[in-house]
Amino acid sequence: MVIVALTGGMGSGKSTVARMFKDEGAHVIDFDYLARLVVEPDKPAWRDIVDYFGPEILSSDGTLNRSALAEIVFSDDKSRKALERFTHPRIFEERDALIKAIKRKDPFSIVIVDFPLLFELGLGKMFDKVILAYVPRAVQIRRAIKRGCLGKEEAERRLNAQIAIEEKRSLSDYIIDNQASLNDTRDQVRKVIRELRQLAINKEGESNCC
Ligand code: ATP
Repeated sequence: MVIVALTGGMGSGKSTVARMFKDEGAHVIDFDYLARLVVEPDKPAWRDIVDYFGPEILSSDGTLNRSALAEIVFSDDKSRKALERFTHPRIFEERDALIKAIKRKDPFSIVIVDFPLLFELGLGKMFDKVILAYVPRAVQIRRAIKRGCLGKEEAERRLNAQIAIEEKRSLSDYIIDNQASLNDTRDQVRKVIRELRQLAINKEGESNCC
């Protein structure tokens, strides 16, 4: 089994590429979904967060007020680290449980963890390989605006809060260049998944040897 992170930057095509990997038979785990799951009301991470930040960060229905929390942690490193301390171990527990279940069914599977802020959180080393869905910054901005919900200024502001996509290139093992047609992107996904399958076979061979 090979466990691979798929990352990108705003509007670079990560979700599009994740769907293509799924079409090719990979198991895709959505990091953002797990991050929401572990902070549901009364779960251990939710309790730690409420103890630390106070009930002011709750909405009236008891769920976390994500934008209030984001505002606090965006401007305060100590708060951000506390939030990560409460959530990350639980997210990885959920991830590991999912991976275990997948491995029981298919020991040679390719697991893709769709992980938007992988490098920003410094977690690139936790995976066998890292794939980057890449387009240049200007295309990121154009596509994010075209998708409909952002103006140019807001798109630039959000991008400036992320590690530059060119820097992410140098931190990644595979780069899926998503500037051209979807067919072109799909061809690259197929090439990468062939290599990952080979890697899964080699890895299994190594673990059985000696
Ligand atoms: P974010 O992390 O900001 O949500 P993302 O990296 O997951 O974005 P997608 O949602 O996959 O990116 O793609 C961003 C936008 O670009 C979408 O509207 C998508 O339909 C479009 N898009 C993706 N790939 C291509 C492509 N090869 N050609 C044209 N448009 C594309």
